[in-house]
Amino acid sequence: MKLRGNYHTHTTMCDGTNTPREMAQRALEIGFTHLGFSGHMDPDIHMDMAAYLEEIGKLREEYRGRLEIFAGAELDCLYPKERAAGAEYVIGSTHFLDVDSPEPMSVDNTEEMMLRLGREYFGGDFYALAKAYYRLEAGVKDRTDCTFIGHFDLVTRFNDSLHFLDEADPRYTGPALEAMEYLVSRGVPFEINCGAVNRGRKKELYPNTFLLQSLQKMGGQILISSDAHSRDLLDGGFAVARERAMACGFTHTLMLVRGADGRPAFAEHALDTFS
Ligand SMILES: [Zn+2]
Ligand SMILES: [Zn+2]
Repeated sequence: MKLRGNYHTHTTMCDGTNTPREMAQRALEIGFTHLGFSGHMDPDIHMDMAAYLEEIGKLREEYRGRLEIFAGAELDCLYPKERAAGAEYVIGSTHFLDVDSPEPMSVDNTEEMMLRLGREYFGGDFYALAKAYYRLEAGVKDRTDCTFIGHFDLVTRFNDSLHFLDEADPRYTGPALEAMEYLVSRGVPFEINCGAVNRGRKKELYPNTFLLQSLQKMGGQILISSDAHSRDLLDGGFAVARERAMACGFTHTLMLVRGADGRPAFAEHALDTFS
């Protein structure tokens, strides 16, 4: 059995290249049973929430019985959570750092912005930057009341090319593990996010292998998602993510299904039953 759903999906209503309808059509073509849209709600990219909910709501009706569609949101931890009101589930993500800057400063924008963040706001100390990132990330459940955690170690987005820190250095792993431990204690699952690997940005998935192993040892739960911004990548990286999860000792992944009360609920799927 294949993994038949994705819950981290962007469209033309935020920064994706395909419409919600094109994504839903693609989901059917590749045998999905579930599709969760997760438009950005953050200081930089945010949707007209009412128009989004209406559009996804229409699709939900149209595809009923063929594809279970959810209207979620990817809510940044520095954005007011009220702005995602009405979303059926929330991905809690940290993209921006809480620095006193004229424009929102993201760790996920350009190499140039990442270097500027480190040099201008952290005196060139990228371990201090990572510590600030994980301080925010630790609070992502409390701030966003999210359903699951998005790309836990996004702060390393440009580390393959810029090498601004050593991901095995305790100055990096210490704050990361501390944040992870707290989030696990809050009972919130983590996504394995294939987005950067799918787009050739990174060799490692989010979270990287060391952090994923640590998550498994802490008793954390996972959910596999593609962070698709185009229809061709809707299930991109699922095979790699499944293999990596099993190598790290995970036996199950989660899917969001429609619960008896009509709201999204988690269901466990054994990883070794996927082909
Ligand atoms: Zn994101
Ligand atoms: Zn995303």
